[in-house]
Amino acid sequence: MSAQPSERNAPQAIDHYINGQRHAGKGASVPSYNPASGAVIGAVALASAEDVDLAVNAAETAFSSWSQTPPLKRARVMFRFKELIERDMDKLAALITREHGKVFSDAKGEVVRGLEVVEYACGIPELLKGEYTEQIANDIDAWTMRQPLGVCAGITPFNFPAMVPMWMFPMALACGNTFVLKPSERDPSTALMLASLLKEAGLPDGVFNVVQGDKVAVDALLDHPKVRAVSFVGSTPIAEYIYARGTASGKRVQALGGAKNHMIVMPDADLEKAADALIGAGYGAAGERCMAISVAVVVGDATADALIAKLAPMVRALRIGDGMNAQVDMGPVITAQHRDKITGYVDDGVAAGATLVVDGRGHRVAGCEQGFFLGGTLFDHVTATMRIYKEEIFGPVLCVVRVPDFASALKLVDEHEYGNGTAIFTRDGHVAREFAHRVQVGMIGINVPIPVPMAFHSFGGWKKSLMGDHHAHGPEAVRFYTRQKAVTQRWLVGGGNGAEFAMPTH
Ligand code: NAD
Repeated sequence: MSAQPSERNAPQAIDHYINGQRHAGKGASVPSYNPASGAVIGAVALASAEDVDLAVNAAETAFSSWSQTPPLKRARVMFRFKELIERDMDKLAALITREHGKVFSDAKGEVVRGLEVVEYACGIPELLKGEYTEQIANDIDAWTMRQPLGVCAGITPFNFPAMVPMWMFPMALACGNTFVLKPSERDPSTALMLASLLKEAGLPDGVFNVVQGDKVAVDALLDHPKVRAVSFVGSTPIAEYIYARGTASGKRVQALGGAKNHMIVMPDADLEKAADALIGAGYGAAGERCMAISVAVVVGDATADALIAKLAPMVRALRIGDGMNAQVDMGPVITAQHRDKITGYVDDGVAAGATLVVDGRGHRVAGCEQGFFLGGTLFDHVTATMRIYKEEIFGPVLCVVRVPDFASALKLVDEHEYGNGTAIFTRDGHVAREFAHRVQVGMIGINVPIPVPMAFHSFGGWKKSLMGDHHAHGPEAVRFYTRQKAVTQRWLVGGGNGAEFAMPTH
């Protein structure tokens, strides 16, 4: 099946969505591609500061009535939104595959993981309950409540055009905020489809808005005085920038960054299962996942030799092609520039002395000669000083680092500057427990290679993988998208006791 029936047509205009309507804007546009065919399929509008101002003002105006809408009624919009996503699941997934390149089943998987956050948001009346203490002091009662912030912004990466925005806006909206989303300019259409489903679900105009664009749009959101909070997911250098600039203008900011996720393979691990896990977690979505495993830390040379013997033929056998073809395991990477950057990393690894076991450079797919493809690449004997170890490659490249024992494996993981996810494959419960207890990383898998917490827990890494105090979705999202107010009440009966000058200690 081909993903590009309409690619001979002129590129489609992909614009903004403001106050319930498409908005063309006056700015320039950039092309978007189908990475499998290499064809230009869209002209993505780049929002100017005026376009962003329009979107923020629409959201600010909508806030007064949306924030007063009872949580149960907000939840009912989420219930309808959930049904519409289920109805249009295949359309959403096909759109993602067309612009991102990941295989259709994986695109569906990301929609489902986003949908789970919508399902969690349906429970908002329960989640927003405050705390109450009767008679906290003589004749005094006290309670806390959580109130929405106002206009919240989301700035999202290319690699999950449905799931990552859905980590943010369902919870922000359910909490009573309004939202402006700035999706990646490389796969911008999913955000517009989600906007139209929200409208169909009954969300009032202005509550959810989309501005397409680049740094100009992002900076306008970061500096806008009416934007109260910013959720960002993307690479670490940009996350650091967003955090610094957003907090400097007084906003609440959570900025999730890049990753270099290690999977430790102990000598007692089931190597068959460890190899399957590494292939899925290393090469699924062409390695363009923030929770992809890009380093296998193998304990002992005998374990490493046996694991490499299993992995190498599996990497060579990866079926690579257009993600709409159900027989394909791995699609293209996002752009030609990104493919060339990954190729540069492989060149660098070879020059640094790593053993190139499988070389994916220059991979061609018959019928998709202009697509942005790479084969799977496997390196052995990678060391901690090499660039291919230190930096996030974000492609289908797995590095094997050999270590003598568990302590050295743990030290390696801890000393890396990223701390998003990590995993261990072992049959030893004590080692697994020690690992989970000690390791300096935010999300841990025990015989689970991609330990992405489900929607009713929260998602977030440590170290350079997250800036800010709150993780994404789950209970942390309620904390991030609301602020707490505490009320202390006393109903005076009869005469007062006169002025009190000491600290009250009733
Ligand atoms: P990116 O940082 O290039 O872009 C992310 C967003 O920032 C996009 O919307 C983009 O338009 C905007 N942006 C880019 N350059 C900017 C600039 N100079 N100023 C202001 N805004 C700018 O990231 P990407 O390439 O789209 O996505 C891949 C990265 O995202 C990887 O590093 C990956 O690890 C990370 N990621 C992290 C998580 C996580 O949960 N920690 C999840 C998904 C992706």
